[in-house]
Amino acid sequence: MGYQYLTQYDAACYTPGRPYGIDSITIHWWDDPAKHPTFDGVVNTFVTGARQTSAHYVAEAGKVACLVAPGDRAWACGDDVNVNSGGNDRSISIECNPRQSDGDYDTIAQLIADLRATYGDLPLYPHRHWSSTGCPGTYDLARLDRLARTKSGKKPAASTPARPAANPAPARKDLDTVAREVIAGQWGNNPERAAKLRAAGYDADAVQARVNQMLGARPTPAPSVDIDALARAVIRGDYGNGDERRRRLGSNYDAVQRRVNQMLG
Ligand SMILES: [Zn+2]
Repeated sequence: MGYQYLTQYDAACYTPGRPYGIDSITIHWWDDPAKHPTFDGVVNTFVTGARQTSAHYVAEAGKVACLVAPGDRAWACGDDVNVNSGGNDRSISIECNPRQSDGDYDTIAQLIADLRATYGDLPLYPHRHWSSTGCPGTYDLARLDRLARTKSGKKPAASTPARPAANPAPARKDLDTVAREVIAGQWGNNPERAAKLRAAGYDADAVQARVNQMLGARPTPAPSVDIDALARAVIRGDYGNGDERRRRLGSNYDAVQRRVNQMLG
């Protein structure tokens, strides 16, 4: 059984490219069935980016929509991006109808077989494998896996064209621009700031380093030592003599000893 393949929708939130490769498929469900989630509702949530989330596919019996090309990273698994995460960075995410009809299983299994035809024998994981969540509820991944292995995969479904140029990823801003935005408060505060920067594809450490440069931050200086006070203490005898004095004054020994000699004329 094939399925209707919809490519006219594009998710607002995703991270371009697959620098860490692809080594699994993650199964999600739309939501608890008691909340009456719908195919169109889930697609719309990803298209608008209303929740700053996405998935590669939304699937139900007879119908699959591809919102993020498998060659890009969806924001689906809650385990961050650009950190070699098993979920967002390395997995392909499928959002499944939680009613779990036989038709739902059949279509999702066909999609899995199609993906495996292109990307190899990818194992299945539930979303909750990657982060704390109830998703995908009662979905039976062993059944999906068994069913997928009865099907021959066809590549077309997996070879989603890259995003059309008309709907490109927002151009990455240069480091100075992002650093100025951070200083202006547009990225909030840490640790959320670093997570947001990473999610948007930036190197949070590099941005912070640039911010520190711009703000003139310097590494915290070593606490300054009062050489005069130490010299007076040495003269009082507080630091003993010879090797003991050298040991106790440590790296300050030479400076203190010079000052002692000056004080003693
Ligand atoms: Zn999920």
